[in-house]
Amino acid sequence: GTIADNLTRRVENAGAAVSETFFEPVVRLGVTGLSRAGKTVFITSLVANLIDRGRMAQLAAVSQGRVLAAFLQPQPDDTLPRFDYETHLAAMTGSDPQWPESTRAISELRLSLRLRSGGLLGGISGPRTVHLDIVDYPGEWLLDLSLLSRSYSEWSQQMLDRIADRPLARDFMSLARETDGNTKLEEPQAQALAQNYTAYLHAAREAGFSDCTPGRFLLPGDLAGSPVLTFAPLLPQDKAARGTLWREMERRYDAYKRQVVRPFFRDHFSRIDRQVVLVDALGAIHAGPKAVEDLRRTMAEVLGAFRPGRNSMLTSLLGGKRVDKILFAATKADHLHHTQHPQLTAIMEALTRDARDRADFAGAETAAMSLAALRATVEETREHSGKALNVVRGRLLETGKQAAFYPGELPSDPNRLLAPAREGAEQWLDAEYSFMKFAPAPLSTRPGDGPPHIRLDRAAQFLFGDRL
Ligand code: GDP
Repeated sequence: GTIADNLTRRVENAGAAVSETFFEPVVRLGVTGLSRAGKTVFITSLVANLIDRGRMAQLAAVSQGRVLAAFLQPQPDDTLPRFDYETHLAAMTGSDPQWPESTRAISELRLSLRLRSGGLLGGISGPRTVHLDIVDYPGEWLLDLSLLSRSYSEWSQQMLDRIADRPLARDFMSLARETDGNTKLEEPQAQALAQNYTAYLHAAREAGFSDCTPGRFLLPGDLAGSPVLTFAPLLPQDKAARGTLWREMERRYDAYKRQVVRPFFRDHFSRIDRQVVLVDALGAIHAGPKAVEDLRRTMAEVLGAFRPGRNSMLTSLLGGKRVDKILFAATKADHLHHTQHPQLTAIMEALTRDARDRADFAGAETAAMSLAALRATVEETREHSGKALNVVRGRLLETGKQAAFYPGELPSDPNRLLAPAREGAEQWLDAEYSFMKFAPAPLSTRPGDGPPHIRLDRAAQFLFGDRL
């Protein structure tokens, strides 16, 4: 964004802008990631820390003392749900801290920052205001982009190929194989297929797989039970007659693309300036080599969404605008002792590089990082069979008891984790990782002491520091 860009946008949104000054710049920050990646916790902690400014030393505007105030304001889009910041913060910071309810759909929050101008003119020009419009949306919706350029037949073939040898998909695969798409449509049959496929998608997500389309099957919101969500991949049919199951499923798939996927990209995605993609990389690594391979493919698909040049459908939906910075961040890094953070970051960097290569990506500036938006653990070094072991300790969610864990080692060379992917791939983090379900740590009540985190301020500096 140049001033001219912002101006155009201001004029377009003139109806929505209530009382704000014409030239106050807006940064629209997209926060996405698959379900449970950590979006809600990220946004809540980011906003709390910006309002407090206590733990944001790596955000230049804060360390230079230029942030005079940070406060919430009514958001510009009147028809989008508001991100429920107060409820989420209350959950995380109560006397018995809990994790907040996760993202189910798109929502928005406006944080406004009053800034003392930096540089030569800082002394003479008065304070200015920058609005940070945070847009939270499920990463599952982003994956639906791949549907736009695929026909029902192509998508069906691709999904069935991908999932054919996954044990989780056995039920659905046998149903799909025994279904003759070239028979007359019976609604109960369509519903059974859709329900069975949805059950597979949920199980696949649970097991750490990320190639779960259509995204709204997992997070349907008010579309639950509607025809646009009542289809499933079927074995391709050459000449399915009118009125058959196959033709109706194809019609619903097309309706899903037209009435669900396209409006999201056109109305919301197209307006994002900066994007953070949160990734539960540790969860995928723990789930095993297949989930990691799937994650790397998914990251390439996600990057594809930010490379409109290649996809003419997307170019026209986005009206020529594009995101100029993307951060891929591995979340929940507080599960690892800091001595292992470089390995996790190296894995994210390798995945990002790989995704860029695969997506033949040219465009936004990208970076990789590992962070914890809300740090739930402290570090300790313990003696174990005569060796020093670096562990993390936290309060267990279920019992409330303190416990220390050693989640296992990550390889120092990310290729040992990423390259093999097929036979003989090694398993990492298979030790105690599955028991590490920590509750958020009780917060200090000292003013200016926002929620504890790891590298949240660095993430903020990369994402919007240059605009403050
Ligand atoms: P969303 O579905 O992307 O909105 O994910 P959430 O923000 O709700 O996070 C999902 C879960 O991940 C939370 O309930 C926590 O259990 C865990 N989590 C998220 N962020 C952190 C973090 O910084 N540290 C730890 N230890 N756990 C986290």
